[in-house]
Amino acid sequence: MTKFMMRIVCVFFFSISLLPFSCAQPFGVQPKPTRQDTLRGSIAAERAWWNVLAYHIVVEPDYLTKTIRGRNEIIFEVLQSGKNKRMQIDLQQPMTIDSLRLEQNMPLKKNQLNRDGNVYIIDFGNYEFGNNIPSSAKQSYSLQIYFSGKPREAVYPPWDGGWIWARDTKGRPFISVACQKLGASVWYPCKDHQSDEPDNGASLTIKVADTLVAVGNGRLKEKNKHADGTTSWTWVVTNPINNYNIIPYIGSYVHFSDTLMGEKGKLDLDYWVLDYNLEKARKQFSRDVKPTLRCFEYWFGPFPFYEDSYKLVEAPHLGMEHQSAIAYGNKYQNGYLGMDLSGSGWGKKWDYIIVHETGHEWFGNNITTNDIADMWVHEGFTDYSETLFVEWLYGKQAGNEYTQGLRSKILNDRPIIGPYGVNREGSSDMYYKGSNLIHMLRQIIDDDSLFRNILRGMNKTFRHKTVDSKDVEEYISRQAGKVFSRVFDQYLRTTKIPVLEYKIQGDRIFYRWANCVDGFKMPVRLETSGVWLFPETDWKDMTATAELIENFKADKNFYITVKKL
Ligand SMILES: [Zn+2]
Repeated sequence: MTKFMMRIVCVFFFSISLLPFSCAQPFGVQPKPTRQDTLRGSIAAERAWWNVLAYHIVVEPDYLTKTIRGRNEIIFEVLQSGKNKRMQIDLQQPMTIDSLRLEQNMPLKKNQLNRDGNVYIIDFGNYEFGNNIPSSAKQSYSLQIYFSGKPREAVYPPWDGGWIWARDTKGRPFISVACQKLGASVWYPCKDHQSDEPDNGASLTIKVADTLVAVGNGRLKEKNKHADGTTSWTWVVTNPINNYNIIPYIGSYVHFSDTLMGEKGKLDLDYWVLDYNLEKARKQFSRDVKPTLRCFEYWFGPFPFYEDSYKLVEAPHLGMEHQSAIAYGNKYQNGYLGMDLSGSGWGKKWDYIIVHETGHEWFGNNITTNDIADMWVHEGFTDYSETLFVEWLYGKQAGNEYTQGLRSKILNDRPIIGPYGVNREGSSDMYYKGSNLIHMLRQIIDDDSLFRNILRGMNKTFRHKTVDSKDVEEYISRQAGKVFSRVFDQYLRTTKIPVLEYKIQGDRIFYRWANCVDGFKMPVRLETSGVWLFPETDWKDMTATAELIENFKADKNFYITVKKL
């Protein structure tokens, strides 16, 4: 997701009292987590005993009443066998479960289903799961859930999301969903936690009037015309996918395609855009998509979803990283709706949404965090993918300027990592500060081929997996052969920016880190001389040349403060 706008919107809208939901709290103040937040954000017993293998979703939206109905078949495996199982299924109000069935022959009774706010607890009673099998094998089951209702309507998508019942400029229905953070359970029943992606992928069947086109994630598997003037479109991804990435798009789309010879062979590129935007789309996509993919394959390794293809789908909102069906709504402009987020000039030379959301295919979709508290792994690295793209096109200095330019948007209001287990993200600094942290680690590693190997190694080691921030932090330290743990603690878990204090006494310069966590040690390069200092929290000193005394400045690529005492 592109979080920047949230803050801009806050500022713009403050004056006209149209503060969006996501900005409703003053900066730095967070509401106390509720019981519902804990149910959603943690893995209690009702979630721990089963693992999702696949979702097969069917949805039929009704544009006039803004209602939907459908079915989700959840294929799951049993991790802990036995009787008296209770299962938590998330489905946010006012959506309802109408009926459900286990396997083909076991409809569940009304009294086996209890609602607790935005979750349902299914009581399977005496039914015995996972018996008669050797302990090494896990038995899988099918649970079919029929649901209906009027799902939350998006207020300001993608940030304040839900279903989007828009019209295109010709007045025809233009429908989609944006539900990152809000959660996919805003419209379909699922295990709404990032740690459990359907291992074998998902299918999405969308039934719409046959005057419209419906697009989903991955590849089109089937298209069935019905006698009542509707058509069902079935789309399939074969790889694990985040719940919030499974998204229907409905509109007057046309399709064009291309291919890229990438690291793993032929990658299909498919584009679905509103008919009247075809020419604009051909121009914009053909200019930016291939260079973006080439740059990211170079830095991060092969595109993670060759089987499911790369896809951009025009959306009625700015954009979102929907896996193998990226939502595109940047109006075929350069920059971020025509703006340069960095203020450096470099951000206005390419289409921000193509680059940023494509970066998420590696960070966010390939590597997903278990808890949304660690979302900096998605957004920090994806923001850094923009820097690498600027560098790819315009050289290293341009990339440096882009990253440095983003710093003006850092708030240091709250730590980047949020509280665990309560479905709560940390500060929006996960974007620009996260990116600046990665840029700084790159300076300290001081070896771009090693830095590249680390980025590629992360995408290989954690391929199609869910991780904690700690896993990523330890991986980087280990591969770099450096202890970055206190650097991560400083930048991810506090809001303090380290101060490099120095004083000159005679012909010696004394220096140390202040405003930092205990035991903070971080090398820093000086700007003019290229000299490396290795400050700690106790004073160190060195002989000062006249040049150094005159010009004691840290390399601008370090996000720190320097203070002369
Ligand atoms: Zn993003």
